[in-house]
Amino acid sequence: MPDAPAAPAAPTAPAALPLFNLAHRHAPDEVAEPGTAAEVAAAVRRAAGAGRQVHPVGTGHGWTHPIEGGLALLTRGLAGVRVDAARGSARIGAGTTWAEVAEAAAPHGLTPLSGSAPGVGAIGFLLGGGLSPLGRTYGWASDYVRSAEVVTGTGEVVSASASSHPDLFWALLGGKHVPGVVTAVEVDLLPLTRVYGGGLFFAATDAEAVLTAWADWSAQVPDLVNTSVALLQLPDLPFVPEPLRGRFVVHVRIAVPLDATAEPGLAAGLVEPMRTVAKPVVDTLAELPAAAIGAVHADPDQPMSVLEAGALLRAFDADAARAMLAAAGPQAGAPLAVVEVRRLGGRLAQAPAVPDAVAGRDAAYGLFVVSAPVPELFAGPVPAAVGALAQAMAPWASGTFQPNFIGALNKPDAWDTAWPGGVAARLDEVRATYDPAGVIGH
Ligand SMILES: Cc1cc2nc3c(=O)[nH]c(=O)nc-3n(C[C@H](O)[C@H](O)[C@H](O)COP(=O)(O)OP(=O)(O)OC[C@H]3O[C@@H](n4cnc5c(N)ncnc54)[C@H](O)[C@@H]3O)c2cc1C
Repeated sequence: MPDAPAAPAAPTAPAALPLFNLAHRHAPDEVAEPGTAAEVAAAVRRAAGAGRQVHPVGTGHGWTHPIEGGLALLTRGLAGVRVDAARGSARIGAGTTWAEVAEAAAPHGLTPLSGSAPGVGAIGFLLGGGLSPLGRTYGWASDYVRSAEVVTGTGEVVSASASSHPDLFWALLGGKHVPGVVTAVEVDLLPLTRVYGGGLFFAATDAEAVLTAWADWSAQVPDLVNTSVALLQLPDLPFVPEPLRGRFVVHVRIAVPLDATAEPGLAAGLVEPMRTVAKPVVDTLAELPAAAIGAVHADPDQPMSVLEAGALLRAFDADAARAMLAAAGPQAGAPLAVVEVRRLGGRLAQAPAVPDAVAGRDAAYGLFVVSAPVPELFAGPVPAAVGALAQAMAPWASGTFQPNFIGALNKPDAWDTAWPGGVAARLDEVRATYDPAGVIGH
């Protein structure tokens, strides 16, 4: 599905890049914002000719390091959503956020398998596999990709699918650092309009009771129940609702897709054990439109400076809950805004219909940590706190990583162990085939 050739957009002098995470000082030599795949191809060829790397940039939720030199290729100019209601699919341009896809799909009774934050870019998310707050029920978001339009590192526009460039398509489904600029994808949408979900926020004094109960409960819930728990240190700022402002709370997140067989009453019954562990400070569980899935995690949507780290876990039992609280609980004083554990398993653990490079199918839980948004703490206190937490959780760690949750605070070798050896070697082969000169940088 290549676009018609067009005059390439002229690169501009670098300016501050409009990215979500402000922690990294990006310093590209130049910035371009092409509007078509043909313009992307021209920009890639021009950069390659000048010996420069091309860094595809989405919303900037996922950069773990600064861009140094080369061309920052902003994909926002390619954004757009075209829903094909008859096929139950959508064509999503690069630079599009999940909120925009959900908004376009909802009038057709459809919804995308998006992530926790509506402002995250669809393409960067899908390239890492894409872990949705509905993933236990529906699987990885990349399981729903039908095809992708890609400008390769050699500047060619190709359409990749299970039957066209299948090696490249395999790498696009979870390989994360891919040998091209993805300019658009076509994904299947879910015929889903309603979700039972939201959050239960508990006081710090109930942290041990809630976290140990969640550990037991989450291990047994059916695949219909999607859940995560987070230790949150919320800022004393007006955008935080009053009962939670400036407090340390434990946030249990729930999402249960609804249909004729799964009604809110059934969903409420499934989560009742967590509702009654202690008295929540705030309880937002309710029936929601599927497009409002962002309300489940209620992630911040304003740009901020944070450092992150992630790991996959084999298990998360009551002892793991206590170890986590000792390192990052209310008494620990750790400079961490979010320490989150997501229950995986269910359909996430099933083999895909089309072979892919998704990492993390066999993990039981995912751990993700976001620092306090305080750059003065980034050099010493934050890495020390993350190191202490990693040590505390080591008995439960799988030793593998999910690429969408590798952050600046992960050790560099997290990228080497994210994929099993055979998958990593095959990803390198695909990169060498489609980008032999290593033009595409991430
Ligand atoms: C608040 C928050 C919530 C999140 N929630 C989830 C979640 O629920 N589940 C989950 O799986 N992940 C989640 N993530 C991680 C998120 O999926 C990644 O950060 C993702 O990379 C963001 O995509 P982006 O399009 O914004 O890309 P960017 O952050 O701009 O880029 C990230 C990487 O993707 C590459 N990239 C981006 N666009 C393209 C393109 N068009 N072609 C080729 N390469 C490209 C970039 O080169 C870079 O290496 C979350 C992140 C944040 C900050």
